[in-house]
Amino acid sequence: MNIIPISAFSDNYIWMIVREGRAAVVDPGDPAPVRAILEEKGLALDTIIITHHHFDHTGGIAALKSATGCRVIGPDNPKIANIDETMTEGVQVTVLGYRFEVMEVPGHTLDHIAYYNVEDATLFCGDTLFVGGCGRVFEGTFPMMQQSLAKLSELPNETEVYCTHEYTMANLSFARKVEPMNTDLVAHIATCAQRREDDLPTIPSTIGQELLINPFLRWQSLAIIDQLKQEGRHTGDSPADVFGAVRGWKDEG
Ligand SMILES: [Zn+2]
Repeated sequence: MNIIPISAFSDNYIWMIVREGRAAVVDPGDPAPVRAILEEKGLALDTIIITHHHFDHTGGIAALKSATGCRVIGPDNPKIANIDETMTEGVQVTVLGYRFEVMEVPGHTLDHIAYYNVEDATLFCGDTLFVGGCGRVFEGTFPMMQQSLAKLSELPNETEVYCTHEYTMANLSFARKVEPMNTDLVAHIATCAQRREDDLPTIPSTIGQELLINPFLRWQSLAIIDQLKQEGRHTGDSPADVFGAVRGWKDEG
């Protein structure tokens, strides 16, 4: 799958899938940079893919749809105008000939969905899973978000994770507080720092990589549980407890 990052706002990526002169975009919060790339590359916009209702993901729908007549797929949420096809758990949707399975991943928002393509092991997960982090839990509960992340973490290790924000360096520096002795994490910080220095995205990551370094997926880590105890933040050993303690800690900082 040919996937191009389009930078928007201060730290968003609008991911563009390109195939044979046609394009699809994920979460176009701003129409202007999308239109610029379509024009520059001579592409026709086929589909807009939406993960959740936040404006920095949906703000470009109306303008792009009226300019191109593209179709719009997204969650079943009346807050999002101009959706042509609503997506729910388990729906199979074809975009540019690629088949995606829809996964409901509530927590950041209640309407949040992700799109998974099995053939190319590609996941568009919006603001649910980030490199080294996860989205803030605005509408759901911590246990709900943990369940959603658990669902994503069960995808094959090679799955490429395309999230929406370049929050990686801040996330990794928090991750290091949570799990200071994690050598995979230390190595990944060096890799990502180099990518940022070279003005490259740190995304995509993979599920396998995130399982090694992301404190919001590592609820089984004894080192994290120990660290939570040392910090006086340990409330229990269940995945939901460990996730909730780590998320609460991050929210304070
Ligand atoms: Zn959001």
